[in-house]
Amino acid sequence: MSYVVLARKYRPQFFRDVVGQPHVTKTLLNGILQQRLAHAYLLSGPRGVGKTTTARILARAVNCLTPEQGEPCGRCDRCAAALDGRAMDVLEIDAASNNSVDDIRELRNAVNYAPIEGRAKVYIVDEVHMLSKPAFNALLKTLEEPPSHAYFCLATTNPQSVPQTILSRCQRFDFRRVSAGEIAGHLRLILSKEAIPFDDAALDIIARKADGSIRDSLSLLDQVIAFSGGTALRQDAVDVAGDLRLDLHFRALGLIESHSLADAFLLDEELAKLGVDPQDYIIGMEEQIILLLQIKGVGVDRTDIPMDLKADYLHVVEKISEAELVRALQLCAAAEIDVRRNFNPRVRLQLLLVKLASLERSVQLTELIERLGRATSAPTPTPAPPKPPVSPTGITGSAQPAPKPTPAPQNPAPTPAAPPFVPTPAGADGDQLRKAQDEWERICRRLAEKHNSRANLIRFGGYPMGYANGVLRINFMSSSHLEAGRALGGALRDEYSPALGPVQFDFQLGPIPSTADDKPPEEDPAVKLLMDKLGARLVQ
Ligand SMILES: [Zn+2]
Repeated sequence: MSYVVLARKYRPQFFRDVVGQPHVTKTLLNGILQQRLAHAYLLSGPRGVGKTTTARILARAVNCLTPEQGEPCGRCDRCAAALDGRAMDVLEIDAASNNSVDDIRELRNAVNYAPIEGRAKVYIVDEVHMLSKPAFNALLKTLEEPPSHAYFCLATTNPQSVPQTILSRCQRFDFRRVSAGEIAGHLRLILSKEAIPFDDAALDIIARKADGSIRDSLSLLDQVIAFSGGTALRQDAVDVAGDLRLDLHFRALGLIESHSLADAFLLDEELAKLGVDPQDYIIGMEEQIILLLQIKGVGVDRTDIPMDLKADYLHVVEKISEAELVRALQLCAAAEIDVRRNFNPRVRLQLLLVKLASLERSVQLTELIERLGRATSAPTPTPAPPKPPVSPTGITGSAQPAPKPTPAPQNPAPTPAAPPFVPTPAGADGDQLRKAQDEWERICRRLAEKHNSRANLIRFGGYPMGYANGVLRINFMSSSHLEAGRALGGALRDEYSPALGPVQFDFQLGPIPSTADDKPPEEDPAVKLLMDKLGARLVQ
């Protein structure tokens, strides 16, 4: 018998089996039971979290001959046909490869014919944001007057790219990244059913590496089992998933407290010896710092940190201030961008570790500069004047200007901080951008009251950087920030609409005005340290 991959074998067949999306499945079940289904749904969210799976369950539920409390029975002819992919009334379209207006016109013509076997025709359009503009227009006509037998499930990883006209015709479900705890629980269930020996440390490594995606976690688990020959133990997981050992990250964070340059180089040597990929390591650092900030924000019990690690995290949290963590996160994000551009990854990692070891000194230095600026500018306590443009990376000398904002204070004041100064173009678009920047801090704070950690993340790690033709470009300093921004896209649009009117977003990875990386390189304390202590020279 051939091996069936776990992701396929354990693909949820019922709403109740979908992991981590109860806000979606409950609403759909109620809709079915009360016969109040919408004719169009937008299922948005990251990859591998169950969007298409949920759409397929819905397709079976509306055509099942003997539904059980809204769930498809899974046994009748209709269910069986759908499960085998033979159902004539369930049509799946991959918009990535069928994105032309002709493809959608075909759909428009077919949609008016009554269902062939079942009660309803269900169209599942995957990656709907990939449709061309004319195709969207054609689809819109269908969504405006859908025949009563037709249901549309539009799935997308990028809802920002779906036109507002389409969005307003859909009931929207935002699927969320599944927490590491939920993923580990799901894997535990499957391994018990399969009678495969496992330990919790392995599940934790896989769950974290899967980064919110159930599908990725299952394919990783498959790899681990295949590699080990039938177990899922910690060492198996480490060998396959390349465990980024927590202690290696904690040691880097320890540099913030120890200020030990020697430790920084020792750690770097060890990472090199272990063959740790700089990019993986830096992304892992970002995740850990975000977790630590989360602990500071909402407490350890509201994170999905495994029980046995909570004490370790709390230990680290006690020693590092929020300002230091935010600063460390900015350093990691800048390093990640450089490493992605392949600017000598090994050296970037080395520099990052050295910068962490000299972090307090640099925080103090920026505070000192700030205080000096305040003392010389005016007798009244007004915000520091905008500083002249300098390079955002601090190492290259030619990148676009991104002046330095006021540094994050050690104890954030209750009044909103002055927004960072960013040059804006003249004219109406410039006005819009300025408005967007003026509102940023306030909007993030307000969102933070509703969505807490994500909004705090984008408040520190994102900033509006451009506006043209009704599209506001917001830069994010790392992929985690970008993801948080995307997840908050709808809420951001609502918050911005009073100030900007209808607005679309272009979310990008890119530089934002940061607190220190934009000084000339020789003023950077870390670089100075390298120059002073090691005789390093700047090579432009
Ligand atoms: Zn059935």
